[in-house]
Amino acid sequence: MIRKLITRLLGGKSQPSAPTGKRLEIPRAQHQINVGQLPNSALTVVRTLQQAGFEAYIVGGAVRDLLLGFKPKDFDVATNATPEQVKPLFRRAILIGRRFRIVHVMFGREIIEVSTFRASMDTQPAARVGGDERNVRDLAGKLHAVDESGRVLRDNVWGPQDQDAARRDFTVNALYYDPTRDIVVDYHHGLRDIKARTLRMIGDPATRYREDPVRLLRVARFAAKLGFAIDPATRAPIAHHTALLRNVPSARLFDETIKLLQTGHALASLEQLRNLGLHKGLLPLIDLALNQPQGEAFVMAALRDTDARLAEGKTASPSFLFACLLWPQVNSHWAALQTEGVPAIAALDQAADEVLSAQAERLAIQRRIAVDMREIWSLQPRLARRTPRYAYSVLEHPRFRAAYDFLLLRARTGGADPDLASWWSHFQDADETERAALIEQAARTNPAEPGKRKRRKRKKPGASQTEPSTGGGGSASSQ
Ligand code: ATP
Ligand code: MG
Repeated sequence: MIRKLITRLLGGKSQPSAPTGKRLEIPRAQHQINVGQLPNSALTVVRTLQQAGFEAYIVGGAVRDLLLGFKPKDFDVATNATPEQVKPLFRRAILIGRRFRIVHVMFGREIIEVSTFRASMDTQPAARVGGDERNVRDLAGKLHAVDESGRVLRDNVWGPQDQDAARRDFTVNALYYDPTRDIVVDYHHGLRDIKARTLRMIGDPATRYREDPVRLLRVARFAAKLGFAIDPATRAPIAHHTALLRNVPSARLFDETIKLLQTGHALASLEQLRNLGLHKGLLPLIDLALNQPQGEAFVMAALRDTDARLAEGKTASPSFLFACLLWPQVNSHWAALQTEGVPAIAALDQAADEVLSAQAERLAIQRRIAVDMREIWSLQPRLARRTPRYAYSVLEHPRFRAAYDFLLLRARTGGADPDLASWWSHFQDADETERAALIEQAARTNPAEPGKRKRRKRKKPGASQTEPSTGGGGSASSQ
């Protein structure tokens, strides 16, 4: 009653209904999931909930990936128990989230995310608020709340499983696996779409993009990751809805961008973003980077390397990746500043400031990551100074390894002198005598470097330069 009143006062309207589908139970004979593939952690969570009298299933990406024969990244559980009912069943469990309340159950370093079945948007009217989340806070997280564009601000209304399925994004992400009965529950022909390798939005795609514009990016991510075709009705509204991404809080955009670029399919995801016209405005500076041939080569090489590292089971740090993505911009600002006569190291710091603050308006790069990015960049001109003072301090710098990898990437794509890169490859593995010889040799080949300060020649403004000279020529970087 009170909810309805508040909703009415806030101008609430119900959303067009997302059709809830017919429940199909797919037996073992028709699916390839083997209970043995599931980790004990996920099984324990499901069984504990079921023994306490609740429904519980493995859901989402893990079911999809198991059906496709991929190794799931993580395991999520969906249940009809509320977060407050879930938490006390486990020794190490915490309640998290505000917009979307869930429980994290911890098994050592592994986390199983347990979410309560969400009700469909039309069973509970949405509070429509003027884009200001403060208005919603007083509603104690009990209601759906949407902003003026239809974006869901809060989603903590519990409902039955069929409604939960309708609230998920793609048919292939709305499959539930019950390890006890060994059945897959499917309301939206997700299994059929998995077989047809098709990514299809559940419900009316345009409405679903308005509810959560991040789904626009998820289309690109899953199409790239799964190598699926995008269903035409899912694809069609995308071009008209790209502006919605501007409403997404920058921290969430950052998380999604990391998922897009750091889960092993960065190159394919960027390709998809471009095909769908979504890369513009997401990382505005990437647009510019990709428009410069050298910038594009560098960014593509960085993404290819990231994918390769992840395929080998190595990690890829977000700071390195973001440092790469924004480098073409930093680099051209750096060049311009040096052309104006700013010394190389100072010019780089200034270029980094400009680029990072322009980017921050759109995508909140976490502070810790921004600090690392800046270090990777600012070590670049220092790597070109092969004097004893610089060489040893750079070598001991905690970000040396990343900065060196970054230099290798620049050298490979024509942005830095390959001899400088190979000099560092030798220097780091050399003994003291060899190091002294390498420093000598660098001083001979680059007379501008041996510690003696040369007066910087002021370049005429307007002299064009695409890549600052850091690769051993020494002229622009001899401060
Ligand atoms: P991945 O393996 O890449 O993590 P995933 O499908 O598990 O893929 P998550 O982002 O972890 O993706 O989300 C888990 C599940 O939650 C999804 O499969 C989907 O059912 C649901 N989901 C997540 N984000 C959304 C969203 N924005 N809108 C609707 N449903 C979503
Ligand atoms: Mg997941």
